[in-house]
Amino acid sequence: MNDNYKRETICIQSGWHPKAVFAESVSNPTLVILDIEKFANLAHSHGVPLIIDNTFATPINCRPFEWGADIVTHSTTKYMDGHAVSVGGCIVDSGNFDWLAHADKFPGLTTPDESYHGIVYAEKFGKGAYITKATSQLMRDLGAIQSPQNAFLLNIGLETLHLRVPRHCENAQKVAEYLEKKEEVAWVNYAGLPSNKYYSLARKYMPDGVCGVISFGLKGGRQASTKMMDQFKLVSIVTHVADARTSVLHPASHTHRQMSDEQLIAAGVAPDLIRLSVGIENVEDIIEDLEQAISKLK
Ligand SMILES: *Cc1c(COP(=O)(O)O)cnc(C)c1O
Repeated sequence: MNDNYKRETICIQSGWHPKAVFAESVSNPTLVILDIEKFANLAHSHGVPLIIDNTFATPINCRPFEWGADIVTHSTTKYMDGHAVSVGGCIVDSGNFDWLAHADKFPGLTTPDESYHGIVYAEKFGKGAYITKATSQLMRDLGAIQSPQNAFLLNIGLETLHLRVPRHCENAQKVAEYLEKKEEVAWVNYAGLPSNKYYSLARKYMPDGVCGVISFGLKGGRQASTKMMDQFKLVSIVTHVADARTSVLHPASHTHRQMSDEQLIAAGVAPDLIRLSVGIENVEDIIEDLEQAISKLK
């Protein structure tokens, strides 16, 4: 997203009229760290809110409101749940964005809602207009609400989030450092590594840790990465990510296997890219599994 900064600016300058700027604090799967403050200033200078998907960093590691974000979203399916037991998401409104100050941009909040007795959300609820409309009108019409059972399961996960997230980060850091030293590994992408392009942004926005997800590639390319998938004993091959258990995905042989190397590169997914979501197991066990899998590539 940071690399898109120029493109965003050009779009805005050339008469494109955005209603919001949306970005991930830590992007999935590219693991880019967003310069939140910069994008908050950019969005506000055009009278629109900054919405941050904070799924990977979680509120334990990153608090986007403190850097100017207006709305935060989470896939609760990931770390918040922690055990892949229920699908869900949430929206958190800071209550800081002044919708009335930019009334022409947000008619849904600043003109009467005939489906709700002609209420004008921004007049009646002020800076709470957005989340009030989301819960009273959109939730009513679209039914985007959790079942009691899923809410119960999510709450169990939330009660240990502050214990699990530091452990994920500690383990991911050790795994990333281990991989970076391995002869067979071509590259490692994790903003906790001082060699990473986003290290300083990560230090600023998430000083206690980034997340448990790292990605890396093998010198043997797509073939070696595909082969590695068949060797794991502890690590689970799943499309899911940000789970208590260490999970792995090799897009070129799993989710994106129909695509050629050229098509993968065009889509921003390196053919050798392995996304490793480091879990909360004993890190020595995780590293041992990687070690034995890499040793079989020879
Ligand atoms: C998985 C994911 C989503 C989508 O969430 P679901 O719960 O799977 O619908 C959105 N943002 C990020 C960063 C994710 O990792």
